[in-house]
Amino acid sequence: MPSSSVQSDIINQQIGRFSGLRFQWLSFPEDLEERFEKETAEPRSKRLWMEGLIAIALFDLFLIADFYGSRGHFWNAFVVRLLIVTPVCLLVNASMLRRPEKFYRETSIALGACLAGLTQLYLESDRSRVASAYVQMAVLAVILFTNIVMRLRLPYATATSLVMLVGDGVFLWKDRLLAPGDKIFGIGLAIGATAVTLVANYSFCREERLNFLLQLRGEMLVADLNRLNAQLLRHSESDALTGLANRRSFDNQYAELWRTALKRGTALSVIVADVDYFKQLNDRYGHLYGDEVLKRIGSLLQQALRVKDDFAARYGGEEFVILLPGTNAGAAVQVAERLRKMVELAGFPALDPSQGPYDQSIRATVSCGVATMYPADHDQPERLIECADRELYRAKAEGRNRVCSAVLQQPIPELKQPTEA
Ligand code: GH3
Ligand code: MG
Ligand code: MG
Repeated sequence: MPSSSVQSDIINQQIGRFSGLRFQWLSFPEDLEERFEKETAEPRSKRLWMEGLIAIALFDLFLIADFYGSRGHFWNAFVVRLLIVTPVCLLVNASMLRRPEKFYRETSIALGACLAGLTQLYLESDRSRVASAYVQMAVLAVILFTNIVMRLRLPYATATSLVMLVGDGVFLWKDRLLAPGDKIFGIGLAIGATAVTLVANYSFCREERLNFLLQLRGEMLVADLNRLNAQLLRHSESDALTGLANRRSFDNQYAELWRTALKRGTALSVIVADVDYFKQLNDRYGHLYGDEVLKRIGSLLQQALRVKDDFAARYGGEEFVILLPGTNAGAAVQVAERLRKMVELAGFPALDPSQGPYDQSIRATVSCGVATMYPADHDQPERLIECADRELYRAKAEGRNRVCSAVLQQPIPELKQPTEA
């Protein structure tokens, strides 16, 4: 399949083609034609099956008229209609339920219609003047039914109508009961009906194609809209500089993880990491370089996380936050240490030579405050973040580039059941 923008160009171009007034061949470019056939085949086969049953019932209803003819004619008509033509048509009709491919579907319905129409002509030939006249109505009925009710695809509808016209022509040519004027009237009626119904058939088929295209375009627009919405949501939840989740997304995730920890009785750990002496770094190498450092730390931070449910966000400025669900204090300190070491080793992106020599006294390092808690009903979620913040300030106060941690609340020890005396 072509890419979605190429596809949408093709669809728009085809919509333009089918919306105008000029004659257009009823076909799409190959891929689109295949899709059109694929998406319309099933409902079309079902509809043809249902209408086929109605057509067969109408064909057999003519037995009532046959009954009022001669007795010999009735039995002949009975055998031909009910024992030969009807079973063949029912068989062809039933095959529609197996969702046949286009050529078989259209050809077999066209052949079934021709068989019923020509049988009607055969049964009424050389009977009476009235029969010869009224069989013209049967010819019209077949043409109307295939071209307008069943709406066979235009080439098949045209072929069916031509077969019926030739059959009717032969019938009228051989007929010895109708006056020449009646014959001309009969064939004229059939030709007129063919012309009008084929024009209608063309309009139906064209409209069906246009509707299909409009529906496809609608579906593509909805898909585009959904994609843009998802993109917008991603943008609104991520930090443009580092690509990490932003504060807004952090707030939502924190509330969610808090609820889960509360429900499951598991630990929740928070690491708040702040870049040390970042102002100096900005002043020495410029804000753009400072941005590069933040990006680097953001990527190291993602690498430092090992568990799928761990969550990292840019908390604001040069401050980051990590949520570690189901993680106890010891493991959380390990994660913070890993991050601290990674930044110490690799938190300093290569300098542009124009930014001067590398200043050994200014290094990108981070201080981390870690807090762990087993949330209980009466706890407030802010307490855990405040505690991690306090630990961060302690780390700063103790000299920076280090990790300080605290456990806010231990798991509630299981109460010992009193032993019965
Ligand atoms: P401390 O070790 O105590 O954390 O010192 P510090 O210099 O890192 O902290 P301070 O709060 O004094 O300065 C933070 C600096 O971070 C000031 C601000 O200009 C800079 N900053 C905040 N956001 C960005 C940003 O997106 N890009 C850059 N380049 N700098 C930023
Ligand atoms: Mg700082
Ligand atoms: Mg700060």
